[in-house]
Amino acid sequence: MTLSRRGFIAAGTAAVAAGALTSHRGWAAASLTLGDFQIDTLSDGHLVLPLSFALGETPRADAAPILSRHGLGDGPLEPPCNVTLVRDGTNTVLFDVGSGPDFMPSAGKLMDAFDILGIGPEDVTHVVFTHGHPDHIWGALDDFDDPLFYEAEHMIGQTEFDYWMDDATVDTIDPGRVTFAVGAKRRLEALQDAISTFADGAEILPGIAARATFGHTPGHMSFELAGGAMIVGDAIVNHHLAFERPDWRSGSDQDPDLGAQTRVRLLDQLASDQMTLIGFHLPGGGIGRAEKATEGYRFIAEAL
Ligand SMILES: [Zn+2]
Repeated sequence: MTLSRRGFIAAGTAAVAAGALTSHRGWAAASLTLGDFQIDTLSDGHLVLPLSFALGETPRADAAPILSRHGLGDGPLEPPCNVTLVRDGTNTVLFDVGSGPDFMPSAGKLMDAFDILGIGPEDVTHVVFTHGHPDHIWGALDDFDDPLFYEAEHMIGQTEFDYWMDDATVDTIDPGRVTFAVGAKRRLEALQDAISTFADGAEILPGIAARATFGHTPGHMSFELAGGAMIVGDAIVNHHLAFERPDWRSGSDQDPDLGAQTRVRLLDQLASDQMTLIGFHLPGGGIGRAEKATEGYRFIAEAL
């Protein structure tokens, strides 16, 4: 495995020239080579979330020491959004598509990253969804509600597809997330001629296997790449609480108990096997590894 800063530096230069890079949270591409895979993470911007969204029922006082170690206070969290692009010379595979224009003004920047990388939506052969939350799926359609990645075959886990397509979900989901349900169903319906489903363990493309990591959403999937990398989506949703106390119930998980079980199991595997992990909301482009620490784990960013 070789890691490279080339993509980031080139991207940063181009973004500055375009006047688009406003801070360290401006878009970035971190990249690595793993066997036949060229992996880039592309920034879709970042989210702005109240701290309570991450804390859930966790008392503020319990989380405070961890948050302060990471330079975080009471203010809103601004997690980055890293969309993963995997190219093997035949397929150009996008894992999640970002927020599009309708979720938050700070997100939906993926096409800027595409421009800087010199690719267009038509170059994507496959779109693979980790789950149906807005920051992962709302960018799937263009201004006419047609598939933005119009040459691509789209794929999503069967359980996740069934959950968001179920008419009952809008009534059973947390009331604060009704727009998530409406938004996911609308997009999945618009993709109906271009989308297929898969099950846990399926090799969805050569060297890419689906791994059930349920809890953040009912059918959340991670993806293991041959050679030793795991695209974890939001199964490990931040680099502070989720790493130091993976067993804590997270406010961002729809099923907090299952989410915690999944996180504990996943981090144990990633650290034991020394796998590269790629997280949608992790810093430094999202590529790194999990290292066992005195308290839980810590995230070591590797690409930047
Ligand atoms: Zn997310």
